[in-house]
Amino acid sequence: MSAFPRPRIVVSRCLGFAACRYDGGIIHDPVVSALRPHVEFIPVCPEVESGLGVPRPPVRLVRDPELRLVQPDTGRDWTAAMQAFIAQFFSELGEVDGFILKNRSPSCALRDAKVYASAAKGPAVGQGPGLFGGAVRARFPDLPAEDEGRLTNKALREHFFTAIFALAAFREAARAGEVGELVRFHTRYKFLLMAQSQAKLKELGRLVAQAARGPAAEAFARYGALFRAAWLRPPRRPSVINALEHAFGYVSEGLRPEERRYFLDLLRDYRAGRVPSSVPREILRSWALRFGAEYLAEQAFFQPFPPELLLPLDSGKGEG
Ligand code: SF4
Repeated sequence: MSAFPRPRIVVSRCLGFAACRYDGGIIHDPVVSALRPHVEFIPVCPEVESGLGVPRPPVRLVRDPELRLVQPDTGRDWTAAMQAFIAQFFSELGEVDGFILKNRSPSCALRDAKVYASAAKGPAVGQGPGLFGGAVRARFPDLPAEDEGRLTNKALREHFFTAIFALAAFREAARAGEVGELVRFHTRYKFLLMAQSQAKLKELGRLVAQAARGPAAEAFARYGALFRAAWLRPPRRPSVINALEHAFGYVSEGLRPEERRYFLDLLRDYRAGRVPSSVPREILRSWALRFGAEYLAEQAFFQPFPPELLLPLDSGKGEG
């Protein structure tokens, strides 16, 4: 079992946990299955928990003019029941590190549920988040949230994994409640943060430098807010190159000229999109180990999530 802290992730229950879809179905999702040994899942089916049975006539989103959750076959409006469930669920949830929700669902979707003009037959007039998915985005705007469809994309998936394991590691460090732990945590995440955003890394560094001047709880709270915001978007290639170049600076002196040239060629290939970032990253890691560069070898940048989660699945968009 991995030494990584277990992220707490809310997941749509139909993604492998129960046959709770409107037609009595269940979806066996390979990404959710791979995560199971590494993550503490909190499965939820907002429709069943709002009182809809299994199987059930489907519900749909209607703009009237507010969004409503209606069941055309029965004429029932489930909006109030769903909203009551959401309020209850959030009040009992506790700390979480992210969400994996079912796409296109009028309840769970984060962005792509069909929206209709009325309960009557007719084409969709738009799309948007479902009632539960929308409430998640409003309540937890700085937590990673993805649907199972987008997680088939390798770059989005690996960024999501990076973010949830980083947030779980931060929660663990915050539990210790000591400034020294915050310093150790920040040191270990330096290159990973640099690959996300040099500006955020600098701001976080400033917070760590000031941390000893006030209460530790306040330092963790301020650092946590900024740290969560650092993962909202996948890293851009120039930022990753910047981090790779910085890491290279720690080992380059000990390398032979042809090894240096080889690495710079790899960076050029990564810049051109011909190799994934994992190739130069793994080589740097092997050099960090060879030269006993402990500070570098221990960077979360080299192993941001359990390696068992490097899945071959890719919808084809490639690395960003
Ligand atoms: S999509 Fe959401 S509401 Fe629909 S069955 Fe799955 S968990 Fe339940």
